[in-house]
Amino acid sequence: MLYIYANLFSEFQCQMCGTCCQNNWMVTVDQTCYQRNADLFRVTGRVDEFNEAFLAIESPSLGEYAMIAKQPQGQCWFLQPNNLCRLHKEAGHEHLDVVCKTFPRYPMNTARGIELTLSFSCPAVLKLVSESYLEIIRSEVRPVHIYSENFVTQAYPQQYSLDHPLHYYFELEQHFIDILQWRSLPMEDRINRVCDTIDILCSNKPDDMGREITRLIYRNYEQLETADPCNPSQDAGSILVENFFVNTVFKKLLYDHGLKRGAAILQLFWSHIRQKSEQEIEEAARWEKIRRAIFEMEFEYSHHRRQFSNRK
Ligand code: SF4
Repeated sequence: MLYIYANLFSEFQCQMCGTCCQNNWMVTVDQTCYQRNADLFRVTGRVDEFNEAFLAIESPSLGEYAMIAKQPQGQCWFLQPNNLCRLHKEAGHEHLDVVCKTFPRYPMNTARGIELTLSFSCPAVLKLVSESYLEIIRSEVRPVHIYSENFVTQAYPQQYSLDHPLHYYFELEQHFIDILQWRSLPMEDRINRVCDTIDILCSNKPDDMGREITRLIYRNYEQLETADPCNPSQDAGSILVENFFVNTVFKKLLYDHGLKRGAAILQLFWSHIRQKSEQEIEEAARWEKIRRAIFEMEFEYSHHRRQFSNRK
């Protein structure tokens, strides 16, 4: 089995800040976790609390069987004032639902193997990814334990026909990550080049899609190598922005939404980050604004993914 993962993946350590347990999102539990808790609360004589804390979902599925209720201020039912989880304290990590055990890790099941990264909607991750550039590692050694039943996405490009650009998704992903990490170009130019390449691919109907993609990739590398180098800033804000776009592509946004819609979402992310941070010259304040903007975008994207397909 091949593991493909962002180098910072295994460096992440939860800081117990509780942010993920008091956000405006619903924690859903699968049927197994629901039953595990039903048993725990029954044997400890707390059936009434169980009925209050685990709320039925109207149209349940195996993966989303019930949801955990919130406290009046929006915190998870089990979050204590010290930001620790009462359920974790009582029954241990293994007892938790797979979402709680996994976040902010982002496991993906793909034709290449298991791919792993982190969600940027966790403050500890945002700090970590502001310090050094992301690298994508390939290894046959699993970097950490993975709850394999909870893949966030699946990518099997061979299911697309040979004349569809997504058939060549992995080649494109690698190429787009290379462009996004081409540090002698300003970030805006890198994003535009990714989007322009997608535009060409989606507007033409070449006789041989594979050959057209190879031609575009070669053309891009040639032009990138001969472009006038600039001296982009390498401060924490700039590192964070680059890593966010690399991670977003690695998280298969362009596969999940399709290339064209995915490119529009990348542009949307870029304009949000720029709008929030471009007036700020002071380095620490600029990083804070970028960090906030990325947190918002990542949070909204993770929890309202379907709406992003139609967002203008
Ligand atoms: S937001 Fe991140 S650091 Fe904070 S409790 Fe959740 S996983 Fe841990």
